[in-house]
Amino acid sequence: MGSLRIAHRLEGLPPYVPGRRPERGETRRQARLASNEVPWPPQAAIVDAMKAALDGAHRYPDMQYTELRDAIAAHVGRPAGGVAVANGSTALLRDIVGALADPGSEVVFAEPSFPYYRTAAAANSAVPVAVPLRDHAHDLDAMRGAVTPRTRVVVICNPNNPTGTAYTNAELEEFLARMPEDVAVVLDEAYVEFAEDVNGLDLMDEHPNVIVVRTLSKAHGLAGLRVGYAVGDGDVMSHVSRLGVPFRIDGVAVAGALAALRPEQVAESARRVASIVAERAVLTEALRSRGWDVVESAANFVFLPLGESAASVAAACAAGGVLVRPIGGGIRVTVGSPEDTEHLLNALPALAHHPR
Ligand code: PMP
Repeated sequence: MGSLRIAHRLEGLPPYVPGRRPERGETRRQARLASNEVPWPPQAAIVDAMKAALDGAHRYPDMQYTELRDAIAAHVGRPAGGVAVANGSTALLRDIVGALADPGSEVVFAEPSFPYYRTAAAANSAVPVAVPLRDHAHDLDAMRGAVTPRTRVVVICNPNNPTGTAYTNAELEEFLARMPEDVAVVLDEAYVEFAEDVNGLDLMDEHPNVIVVRTLSKAHGLAGLRVGYAVGDGDVMSHVSRLGVPFRIDGVAVAGALAALRPEQVAESARRVASIVAERAVLTEALRSRGWDVVESAANFVFLPLGESAASVAAACAAGGVLVRPIGGGIRVTVGSPEDTEHLLNALPALAHHPR
């Protein structure tokens, strides 16, 4: 070790641990249910648009991403001036905190939830304040109670990763009414398209401190493309954009995203989402009938609280050719095709071997 010292704010910061992928050279067919991806490859029209964009790869993309932001604005029905884009919604989460928090400011989020919120705080010298879930859902009262004069950002992951619980707009209204107006409430809606009666965009006129973060990785089925967006106050969003590295989304991904936002492709993605939502009910029922405890989910995954057994159940699934995610005191299983459900049910060990 040389004489360089890592910044104090990064002390004890765990690395981001992604869901397991098949290992190199692994020949067995795996059902990949560890990362909440959709199981189908991108629509042909999206792939074609990306192929065509390769011819322009000697040029930088438009640094303001005007066309993409306009397309997103039209998609969500909000003004383009309040839209920021980045290479994944994770980058936006980091830069939203960066735009709002001074060193020592507090960022309140739930745990277990998306682990990156802690990193986003640490990356910006802000203080992470984790509030435990209650009955697998955000404890909104406790989160309100955790807000101090130093709090600048509260993150609600809705639906929550990994538990799949969601608050309706009506429930969030009550929470927002009790929040100080100078605290940003970031609604991470990575999975919102799989939920009902949840749409933070509809809360924004009444509550200008709401920022909605979404992604093309999940319902639009483009996790490998790395395109996310945030919608909020125009001034805040312009600072978020300023913090992002220049040209952060490559031109091929921009072309793919633009194609994915065309009405025909949006409609096809919605059909795929509907089939996953239907499969979620099938999987939930099948697991419960086999005796597993399954949290009711509003996302494209289900959570099985397993306590100490989570790692061993995940390992048993992997041995059976199915990758799931041990996290937050349980396993999180991505909902995909009917074949994925079948693979999972075959790979899951008998419940009797895994008392909670
Ligand atoms: N938010 C939540 C809650 C997530 O689960 C994820 C992906 N795992 C993301 C954000 C990040 O998505 P991306 O960076 O692919 O847009």
